[in-house]
Amino acid sequence: MNLDEYRGIWVYVEVRDGQIAPVSLELLGAGRQMADKRGVPLAGLMIGEGVLPLAESIFPYGADQIYVYDNRIFNDYRTESYMRAVIECALKHKPEIILYGATSTGKDLASAVATDLETGLTADTTMLDVNAETGLLEASRPAFGGNIMATILCKKHRPQMATVRPKVMKALEPDQSRTGEVIEEQISLSEEDIRTKVLKIVRETKEKVRLDEADVIIAGGKGLGSKEGFSLIHRFAAKIGATVGASRDAVEAGWIEHEHQVGQTGVTVTPKVYFAIGISGAIQHLVGMRNSGLIIAINKDPDALIFQSCHYGIVGDAFEIIPMLMEAFQVEAD
Ligand code: FAD
Repeated sequence: MNLDEYRGIWVYVEVRDGQIAPVSLELLGAGRQMADKRGVPLAGLMIGEGVLPLAESIFPYGADQIYVYDNRIFNDYRTESYMRAVIECALKHKPEIILYGATSTGKDLASAVATDLETGLTADTTMLDVNAETGLLEASRPAFGGNIMATILCKKHRPQMATVRPKVMKALEPDQSRTGEVIEEQISLSEEDIRTKVLKIVRETKEKVRLDEADVIIAGGKGLGSKEGFSLIHRFAAKIGATVGASRDAVEAGWIEHEHQVGQTGVTVTPKVYFAIGISGAIQHLVGMRNSGLIIAINKDPDALIFQSCHYGIVGDAFEIIPMLMEAFQVEAD
């Protein structure tokens, strides 16, 4: 493989329900910095049906070009059809790097593409950089249970690929004066070529927990002692209109569902205010919430690690402090 043939940085631009996923815009921000460092173009790759009108909207976020596959066959996301488009496009234009959001679609697509292209993929990256001279992507992520940060390189294959979780990177302030080039791509693919058929899409009726979009999160941990103890977190959150988060130990104890889990194997959050209550502050929890605007920790152990990562710390028993806070917020503790 002649690595020098590969040039340019791509972001897979995910379209969901007719809208570009915010994580794709965040990746364009990270991609722009790397493209400038390398002196190469930054391109988007968009796949779907009826997506062409959305293509130009990525230019204000830093892209120079966008490759678009707009075809009926891409009506619903299917691994087989979408991976064919990414692979064809990558083989034709030879980008050095492709970034994907670590959404359920992005993760599925990136791993399928990596397997077929026989190249490397770093999943759930939390930091990205590129070596200006060698062009090596430096994709860093927690490893060994979060005890170390590993920087992973893909030295012998191209394109180098990584998935990045929503809210980890920052989108650029849109510059409406920026323009770019829309490149329409065609694919020779028919329904018969695809084994998977989408018969019906059943939407979950249960309201989804949108931890990653919450302004205020009240997260509880093992220190709440029991499911009943954890219910105080729900009451506190309901009274002040906050969203409930949790540590993995609280989830594993069966006090709350996994979709509320914050951290390395849960959601990454950046609310304006994050309460960590009865949470010790393990690195795997911290990586999911340390970029919050204001972190307030309540823990009865003055030496708890969480106190090293918070803006305000209250040493005390959650069952005494929470009712006091609820009163201070002029609400009654049940
Ligand atoms: P503990 O560590 O048991 O802490 C409980 C805290 O509550 C203590 O500090 C204690 O002093 C305090 N406390 C006790 N009683 C009270 C009281 N009455 N009032 C106030 N404070 C009190 N963890 C995550 O959270 N998210 C993840 O995504 C995640 N992913 C992981 C991935 C891997 C590969 C591994 C190995 C671990 C992961 N973990 C994750 C687990 C993590 O290492 C910790 O075990 C976990 O975060 C601890 O949860 P905790 O803080 O609720 O419990």
